[in-house]
Amino acid sequence: MIKQRTIKKSVKARGVGIHSGDIINMTLIPAEVDYGVVFRRMDVGGKLVRAHNAFVNEVVLSTSLENQGVKVSTVEHLMSAFAALGIDNILVELDSFEVPIMDGSSAPFIFLVQSAGIEEQEAHKRFFVINEPVKIKHGDSWAQVSPYEGFKVTLEIDFEHKKVKESGQKLSIDFAQQSYLKEISRARTFGYMKDLETMQRQNLALGASMDNAIALSDNDVLNEDGMRYQNEFVKHKILDIVGDLYLLGGNLIGHYQGYKTGHLLNDQLLSAILDQPNTWSIETFESENSPIQFYSEDWQNFL
Ligand SMILES: [Zn+2]
Repeated sequence: MIKQRTIKKSVKARGVGIHSGDIINMTLIPAEVDYGVVFRRMDVGGKLVRAHNAFVNEVVLSTSLENQGVKVSTVEHLMSAFAALGIDNILVELDSFEVPIMDGSSAPFIFLVQSAGIEEQEAHKRFFVINEPVKIKHGDSWAQVSPYEGFKVTLEIDFEHKKVKESGQKLSIDFAQQSYLKEISRARTFGYMKDLETMQRQNLALGASMDNAIALSDNDVLNEDGMRYQNEFVKHKILDIVGDLYLLGGNLIGHYQGYKTGHLLNDQLLSAILDQPNTWSIETFESENSPIQFYSEDWQNFL
């Protein structure tokens, strides 16, 4: 059978928070079967916040969760790493309201989980399977999921910038064919330097810097080391999508397609899917020879 997964032992990381600019301590802790992904805010008495669409409360610059007034911000890159490694059950302790941004990609979180080691548990892993298409629109942007034998993301962005246009604004990744680790995990978030300066004057994004983002001038990339992938921009957006989709509560079997999507549209899509129980089912697999065979193969690359 395909089994649920947690980590073998606790691991710690520290890094800057993109909103506060504070140094944040994070500990990943193994969790029992059927526990899910849960955050614990150690700075407010150990309050718990479940990583699920039902608790999404803000989607402006990043995806944030909230439970009874307790918030956890910027969860998407960590969630993306958990999705890619198939981690079903884990407790994430934080001493602040946000997940550290690390280098702006999910690669440091992949490394962290790998150094803890992955533990298979004696229970069926539950996949979230799309059986009917669901589509939502917002202005000229749209997002859709449809049935697919595997997990695939197709995205087109439309970012008015010379470097982004040159690098390619459309990409389709079938995770059976291409490795998340190699092709996606190192892609960093990006934005205009002038927008960052405006935000920081308003006390926002105090932790953002060229250590954790690709900074754009009107015509160029300002980071001295340049880009990590030729098409890093669209790849980062796919990294975000993988993380946002994991708020369904399990690994998705389906095809996500989007045009100019972001955290807001992803959140609305997830709510639309969950509101229509006839469009999806939760499934388990007895044999490795299943539509999600690729997951176990891809996981092997990480182990
Ligand atoms: Zn992102």
